[in-house]
Amino acid sequence: MMDIDDKLRLIGAAKDKILTGPQKVVFLLTNTCNFKCVYCWHHSPLLKARPPYARKKIELPFDAVKRVIDDCYHLNVRNIQLAARGETTLYSRFTELVDYIRRKGLTITLLTNGTFQRSLLSTVLKVDAIDINLATLNPERFKELQSHSSAEMFDSVQTNIRLLLNSKKRRRGKPRLTIVYVLTSQNYLELPEIFAWAYRMGIDYLSVKKMICDKLDPCLGLKYHHLERKAHNMLISLSRTKLFKKIRSNVLDNYSASGEFFDSPPPPSCYNAWYYANITLKGNVTPCALIPDHLIAGNILKKSFKDIWFSKKLMEIRLAGKYGLFGRRCKACRQCLHHRFNLSMHNNVRLLNKARASGASGNKSSVQRSGHRPPRQDDLIHG
Ligand code: SF4
Ligand code: SF4
Repeated sequence: MMDIDDKLRLIGAAKDKILTGPQKVVFLLTNTCNFKCVYCWHHSPLLKARPPYARKKIELPFDAVKRVIDDCYHLNVRNIQLAARGETTLYSRFTELVDYIRRKGLTITLLTNGTFQRSLLSTVLKVDAIDINLATLNPERFKELQSHSSAEMFDSVQTNIRLLLNSKKRRRGKPRLTIVYVLTSQNYLELPEIFAWAYRMGIDYLSVKKMICDKLDPCLGLKYHHLERKAHNMLISLSRTKLFKKIRSNVLDNYSASGEFFDSPPPPSCYNAWYYANITLKGNVTPCALIPDHLIAGNILKKSFKDIWFSKKLMEIRLAGKYGLFGRRCKACRQCLHHRFNLSMHNNVRLLNKARASGASGNKSSVQRSGHRPPRQDDLIHG
């Protein structure tokens, strides 16, 4: 069901205007990490050179983050996503920040590798949704793919997942737990196992992402070894089982919508800048999590978030996205992770404009009458 702000975002997108704040604001809080996942763009040991921002410890200043949260409260933002170019719970003011956002009444999504200290459990349980990056159920493979040096971390992640799931039962299903499974040539054979485990454990959502290898060793990608067909066949076999339909996943959603397990880019238009704002480690505001160092609309250390959100610069970015310019200009857009969201918006805006042009009116909005649903949070896979 669309709320009033979602309607305003959609109408704004159709009329090339901005009528309210974003639905979600994502913060990249720190670049410190206790893992070296092989598929990580920031900390992978396979990177030829570490990106400049990963060479020394950087954190978003707490006061600047608080100012943005204050603006978010006034802009009717629904959800704050706490993320990082590292492990989010290692942000030095993590507990204070969660408490501050809660006091403002905004919902929180946390992206983590699941290694948070036991002393942080009560803070972590205050968030509404948690996405945990987990690429294998095998302790030895975990060491190779994620923790790099220690297999003990595997036990710590598994224990934390169990603690969260036990707490969920007492807290009306909160926090909602998503497992983010990055698919590589090293772990694709575990696909049926991860589905079975997610179901057994009571995980709410399984998000399977194909690894993007541009900056890393192509050997890790499925394409390099011609394994895509094998992975596809495994998913076909899995889709014939009851289990596949029992656990909610992006793979099932895509398959039900298009008969494909993964979306095929490029998107026709990009509407992210009407709905989402990402704030990078340096304080830059950008609509895209995949290419956060491009499409920069301003910086929260120099200007208020509210001013950036309503700025001419961000409107130019919105219009470039809407009229399909990113796909032609940016190579990254061909690998867009937000394809379903953008496709759904593209159709909704087209229908809305068609209904407006034919003078349709009434109590229900034209989008509601056309039976189209608003783009869901799940349509935006976390980058
Ligand atoms: S936990 Fe996240 S940030 Fe840390 S190395 Fe792994 S993918 Fe990168
Ligand atoms: S990658 Fe996707 S979300 Fe990002 S700018 Fe390109 S089309 Fe938009």
